[in-house]
Amino acid sequence: MLARFRVATTATGVRRQVWVFVFDDLDELRRSHAAAHGRDYDPDDDVAGSVVIQQGFRWPSPDPGPVIVMRLWTGQLTASTIAHEATHVATALYFMDSIAAWDTRARTVLMGAHEPLAYVVGDLTERINDRLHRLRLHS
Ligand SMILES: [Zn+2]
Repeated sequence: MLARFRVATTATGVRRQVWVFVFDDLDELRRSHAAAHGRDYDPDDDVAGSVVIQQGFRWPSPDPGPVIVMRLWTGQLTASTIAHEATHVATALYFMDSIAAWDTRARTVLMGAHEPLAYVVGDLTERINDRLHRLRLHS
């Protein structure tokens, strides 16, 4: 692992932290991701970034202090990837802090089945970011 740091947000009204692990070795990232999911490592897994709630807040016992880890690879540190992974975090935090019922049908979508949403946010972020840079309007 090349770097490891934490970031925090209070955007949902609750202070939440996310660990960010940055790898320069993609294979190491994939092994770390598989282990965090409790799965066997598969070299064919197409993972170049990930988010795993590694501790707390798992069905069927919600935990108010989850450990959320985002894994990033130096070969793909793009606005698209970061926004994509941040969307995975955001949906989990939205569910934790803004949806009152733990056993709601929204849990399925907000806690995992939202890849298309993450790709849309990542794709639009990258395109808008690129245009702002070209227009020299980016801060
Ligand atoms: Zn994803």
